[in-house]
Amino acid sequence: MGEIWIKEAEQLGDGSIGGAMDSPSSPGRVVWHTTESGHGDVSFTNVGDYLRSIGAEPHILYDPTTDRLGQYGPLNQSARALKNDGISRTNRTGRVCIQIEVLARASKPFTGYWKPGKNFQALMRAIRSWGVPDVFPAGALASSYGDTRASRSRTTWATKGGHYGHSNVPGNDHWDPGAIDKSALFAAAPVETPKVSLKHILAARTADRPAPDGHTTYPAEVKLVEAALKAEGFLAATYASDGSWGTRTDAAYDRFRREVLKLTGTDATGAPGLTSLKALAARHNFAVIA
Ligand SMILES: [Zn+2]
Repeated sequence: MGEIWIKEAEQLGDGSIGGAMDSPSSPGRVVWHTTESGHGDVSFTNVGDYLRSIGAEPHILYDPTTDRLGQYGPLNQSARALKNDGISRTNRTGRVCIQIEVLARASKPFTGYWKPGKNFQALMRAIRSWGVPDVFPAGALASSYGDTRASRSRTTWATKGGHYGHSNVPGNDHWDPGAIDKSALFAAAPVETPKVSLKHILAARTADRPAPDGHTTYPAEVKLVEAALKAEGFLAATYASDGSWGTRTDAAYDRFRREVLKLTGTDATGAPGLTSLKALAARHNFAVIA
């Protein structure tokens, strides 16, 4: 389960804008819009009220010049800024369909002058918490009305998770958010590499093994190591995510040292060391601190 309400966002309206998703087993997605208005606090209030008055609320209202962030409804329910594609309810496609109205104009791409800050990073954190990948599966965004380089493929929309412009949604004809710099969105909210402390791992190993099954000490860090051992094929999926460093985790770690690092004897057994943990980390995108 991802983030439903972004704690950094101010709530707009009564918090209820939509309902359950139609295809919750399809991957999550984001749709970028522009309000075709100016920015600043007066626009934030006026446009925010207007969207509510016409029943076209997105989930999120964002000011790219002040980093102000508002949220109308829960991210795991539908919003109202898209037209249906025939009988297909585009607002309700996917695990989530997070719609963002940016106070800007499609004709003047906001990534050219915006000042994203902490709130934008919070927004991206919430988006990623739903497993939405940092990609635009439909490719190009429209740079003008009717720009046919912007795909509105029904197959892509139905099956691919990621970010879309309103200009990529089937059954719709708007061309917002314009030709924004797609990579700038992700670059403005870099993903921090998760860290695992060797000291914590050793403490977890000492405390968890003699305790009843499922005992945890530093579950978040142990989970990262378990996920890596699972990806290496040394830990069965059933045991991979409990965050408890038990005897099976021990055995899997020993196999990693023997079979991948080619260590032998006492080097391949017992408590993990800094060298082997760093070697595992380098293969699975986490960092190790002593
Ligand atoms: Zn739109």
